[in-house]
Amino acid sequence: MTDLEKRGDRSPVPAGWTYAPAPESTEIVSLQERYGLYVGGEWLEGSKHYTTLSPRDEAPLAEVAQASEADVQNAVAVARDAFGPWAALAPSERAKYLFRIARILAERSREFAVLESLNGGKPIKESRDVDLPLAAAHFFYYAGWADKLEYAFPNRSPQPLGVAGQIIPWNFPLLMLAWKIAPALAAGNTVVLKPAETTPLTALLFCDVLRQAELPPGVVNIVTGDGRTGAALVEADVDKVAFTGSTEVGKAIQRRLAGSGKKLTLELGGKAANIVFDDCALDQAVEGIVNGIYFNQGHVCCAGSRLFVQESIYEPVVEKLKKRMATLRVGDPLDKNTDVGAINSRAQLERIVELVEAGKAEGAEIYQPPCRLPEQGYWFAPTVFTNVAQSYRIAQEEIFGPVLSVLTFRTPEEAIEKANNTPYGLSAGIWTEKGSRILWMADRLRAGVVWANTFNRFDPTSPFGGYKESGFGREGGLHGLEPYLSFS
Ligand code: NDP
Repeated sequence: MTDLEKRGDRSPVPAGWTYAPAPESTEIVSLQERYGLYVGGEWLEGSKHYTTLSPRDEAPLAEVAQASEADVQNAVAVARDAFGPWAALAPSERAKYLFRIARILAERSREFAVLESLNGGKPIKESRDVDLPLAAAHFFYYAGWADKLEYAFPNRSPQPLGVAGQIIPWNFPLLMLAWKIAPALAAGNTVVLKPAETTPLTALLFCDVLRQAELPPGVVNIVTGDGRTGAALVEADVDKVAFTGSTEVGKAIQRRLAGSGKKLTLELGGKAANIVFDDCALDQAVEGIVNGIYFNQGHVCCAGSRLFVQESIYEPVVEKLKKRMATLRVGDPLDKNTDVGAINSRAQLERIVELVEAGKAEGAEIYQPPCRLPEQGYWFAPTVFTNVAQSYRIAQEEIFGPVLSVLTFRTPEEAIEKANNTPYGLSAGIWTEKGSRILWMADRLRAGVVWANTFNRFDPTSPFGGYKESGFGREGGLHGLEPYLSFS
């Protein structure tokens, strides 16, 4: 647990004033020693296993199966057998299952939130207040569409595709599962899903929700493992692949599937521009900057990792930002006061350290608020770089950690030019009080999502996805159903 050191007048915390620990109990979670593969509504023994850890202290949590190629093919065959009866079910019946799943998730949200923070390292207040409500909301939302597809796509005879192979990352394990499974089932498909290697536990607990909801066996199958299991799922006899993760792996999947006839959606990386104009509400913007980059330790594909500040307000923005950063509490993800939790894995920590070192070597100026990081586990202090040039790696590459690069601009035209100067195009933010400027900017930013006077807002009704190397296809909203349907 971290206590902010009180260093002279740099600390905003009054002398002698600290937070009392507010630990969330883990008693509500009961873990098995070893998990198999969830296929056809049953647990199958895996032949090999690996240990999943808690990034806050590297403590082993459980043994998880490493699914082989044969295991994946078996899961896909089971999903195919389940497809006919599931697709033939009255859509209003399919909706009932989705509503049940949503309700059970809401009822068991505390258990899921604790497990999400334990296995992934994110602060409990985020798992509890963001991941869980949104995951349940996705199931509620798509439950509502299940029996209205004819109205959603009039005169187009929407039909399910068959079996969807879904591969998700470690930054929002349960939420990404909900983004993938809810629209697929609402459209009448069956699913084989592979969670990320480091964060399989909430997906495995979700199998118990499926059992409670009495979902017909084989409609949702969960196969755990590393990248090899993901690659096997891409190769298997699926009709569609939905992938969220790195641009590199996304490109490899796209190459592999070219000409195969399998449908594909890719939600990849980002390097979002958060653009602050001199007429904005400054304190509100600083909150938005902090939320944009330090939310979920910056493990967010749409994180506002490039901050563009209008030159005339550069000094006050940077000063306010540093002051605010010094109040962020870094530490135990299961403490309710924690703002910035643990880095998800050693590998990710090493990648963050490498890029931060590159930033220093290239000449950027680094600031980290004084904070004591726990000795065990994976940690990185909230970081901001000033004096950043567009060409620096920290301004070009996705760091996927709590690291912000600050750049400046003078005119809206220059802001657009700089913001779009990236291979990515997932999201962007605009801070100004002028509505006309928001519309002018939003029109010109090459980003799938543009937030105005806010950042990192998600809603199941709103489509999310990228341009350029951030991928293609949309998740969320009506648009999120389309990739799971064929039309005649
Ligand atoms: P990956 O793209 O490797 O992982 C995403 C998912 O794909 C995981 O389930 C992974 O399994 C699986 N996978 C890995 N290799 C293959 C393959 N060849 N075929 C099919 N599936 C595969 O991301 P990483 O976890 O390695 O993170 C690396 C970087 O990617 C991060 O530093 C970050 O910059 C970016 N990233 C972006 C995300 C986003 O939402 N845009 C999410 C996660 C990472 P496994 O977990 O076992 O590797």
